Amino acid sequence: MSKIQVKKMNSEIEQDSDSDIDYDDLTQSSVDVGYIDTSMEELSEKELQLYRIQMKSPFFPNKVGGKPAWLDYSSAPHALGAGVMNDSNNNKSEELQCLSCKSQLVFLLQIYAPIGGQNDQFSNEAECLEDAFHRVLYVFLCSNQGCKARTFKAYRSQLNRENDFFSHDPPPEDYDEDDFEQELADSKDHLKKFYLNLYKKNMLNQCAVCGLACTKKCSRCNFVFFCSQAHQLIDWTKLNHKTLCTKYSNPDLDQMILEWVQDENSQLKYFEEKNSPLFPEREILIEPEELDVAKLKREKDKFKYDEKKIVEELGQNEGNDQDFDAVKENDYDKDFEKFKKISAQDPAQIIRYERGGKPLWTSKYQKLKESDIPKCEHCGSRRIFEFQVTPQLLCYLNLDESRQMDTVDWAGLYVYTCVKSCQAAKNSYASEFIYKQDFVS
Ligand SMILES: [Zn+2]
Ligand SMILES: [Zn+2]
Ligand SMILES: [Zn+2]
Ligand SMILES: [Zn+2]
Repeated sequence: MSKIQVKKMNSEIEQDSDSDIDYDDLTQSSVDVGYIDTSMEELSEKELQLYRIQMKSPFFPNKVGGKPAWLDYSSAPHALGAGVMNDSNNNKSEELQCLSCKSQLVFLLQIYAPIGGQNDQFSNEAECLEDAFHRVLYVFLCSNQGCKARTFKAYRSQLNRENDFFSHDPPPEDYDEDDFEQELADSKDHLKKFYLNLYKKNMLNQCAVCGLACTKKCSRCNFVFFCSQAHQLIDWTKLNHKTLCTKYSNPDLDQMILEWVQDENSQLKYFEEKNSPLFPEREILIEPEELDVAKLKREKDKFKYDEKKIVEELGQNEGNDQDFDAVKENDYDKDFEKFKKISAQDPAQIIRYERGGKPLWTSKYQKLKESDIPKCEHCGSRRIFEFQVTPQLLCYLNLDESRQMDTVDWAGLYVYTCVKSCQAAKNSYASEFIYKQDFVS
């Protein structure tokens, strides 16, 4: 990820009023901003195939929705009722359940976020950079209609460059346009080899529908896993299993895995449907934020002007200073103003990433203090801010708007992770701290 330095703001800005928005921290800001890739709608059938292949684990995607693209397959979090899934190497797997309504959590998004780069001021605190060569952060949530206190969960998974699942070399990517056919063929082959390896290691035990680790499988083909009867039914009636079941019994392993790769591609269309149990799958594109600081300053001056006007108006309406103070105190939310102004420059942003940076709070209510952030329960180190999810993402989730009161909602999700990126994420998915800020009602 490349980083930017935002130019130091002009010093002539006055700092006297406590109602001023504080843009000072922007002078050293180096936020990376994530957007939903909306080009998907214009892709041809073949381009779509490549797009979907590249949303799979061996391509280390940043993405929203679909099935999680696991990093460590030996300890992938598991579905409800899958039983104890710790293996002989003591790899621990988490059960994804809502603490409130007890239903199964749904995958929201994942960010490929290796640490130790040039701009990482915290690399010297890392416990073992080699073991975090690959590093992915995951967010899950309860999307059950009517749940009154949805559980949100964040996990961190890490791997050494030498590992059981991924090749040492990077995946095929960024071919010239002329070489599209080659890129598609190479990518398909890369994915096939990856699945073949997992299959041989008995690690292809993820539900065909939701992607969570599980233990039940189809008794006919003895190949495809499902977490529950509900998902088995979906796999049979809505996805391709009915036609592929016999092919999955094929003794030609190569051919069988190829079918599986193609099936994995086709089934994602189902996730676009409103009543699908998963969110629609989209790539997240990440770029350095480019803030127009001059524009922010102009808007700030405009606000100062408005403030004068408010005083005048209050004066005319036999108001006094006390009233104005009350207005300032109660109604003016400089965090909200700042959030509005910064996100207005880039309204499509769904992610703000800055490991060790400051969150951009959406309002002055329910902000976290340093002391509210729990220490890493695995190693005892402090946690630092890593990224936030903006409410803009809600527009892409295909939510049932007719039941707005019951649906998934947030003003901001803030993920804090262990400053050491500690070894708890070795052979297990380490839980991290996720905080939800709500809209003020
Ligand atoms: Zn719930
Ligand atoms: Zn499932
Ligand atoms: Zn089957
Ligand atoms: Zn830790």
